[in-house]
Amino acid sequence: MPRAFGIDMKLIDARFVTSATGAGEIPRDGVPHVALVGRSNVGKSSLINALARRQHLARTSAAAGKTRLANLYRFDVEGGAGGPGRWSVYLADLPGYGYARGGRESVAALRDIAEAYFSFDGIAGVLHLVDARHPGLDSDVDAAEWLTTLNVETATIATKVDKLSRSERTRNLKALARQLGTAVTPTAAVNGEGLDDLWILIARLSRHRP
Ligand code: GDP
Repeated sequence: MPRAFGIDMKLIDARFVTSATGAGEIPRDGVPHVALVGRSNVGKSSLINALARRQHLARTSAAAGKTRLANLYRFDVEGGAGGPGRWSVYLADLPGYGYARGGRESVAALRDIAEAYFSFDGIAGVLHLVDARHPGLDSDVDAAEWLTTLNVETATIATKVDKLSRSERTRNLKALARQLGTAVTPTAAVNGEGLDDLWILIARLSRHRP
């Protein structure tokens, strides 16, 4: 775990909480939520598993594109950005976009949950995941534009950087930052690269709320 502002972070517990099927099932217990959004297959489940240091906390791939609202995972952490002390965060895995299999109903469900989530005052921030191998996808650019219209802090995360050569990586990260108009944090769930930076971002979003 990182030393964020010189303070060690420690993961106390990570667990699956619920697969919400409606806005009414979103836990509202004062623990901040950080929502993960990205194309289907971008690596959301893998990143959640890597953050939890568990292989099977979040299911990878099997249900890609299947209709669901949000899978919620609770992380209990000690220390990190914001000082010592224990804190918790829900990571909310929202349905992936850019996948047609679910049909019109799933598109409507996705919009509903997104609207429910992003108007919910428990939301501390959004992690927008983009595949480091594929800069310039219209769906990612559209999602980034949409996120800027919401009143919620967003951090952009590039996934799967382990699949790129050094030169591709530099080129793609630059292209992504330019296209999406924001800083991009490189990560790789398979080898843990960038996870410390990601924890620092999550701690900032969760613990430094206005
Ligand atoms: P999700 O649909 O966004 O939850 O995506 P998954 O986590 O299921 O990942 C989709 C595919 O990408 C799976 O085959 C993963 O093994 C693979 N994957 C995810 N993250 C990484 C990564 O950091 N590096 C590599 N090489 N593959 C990854």
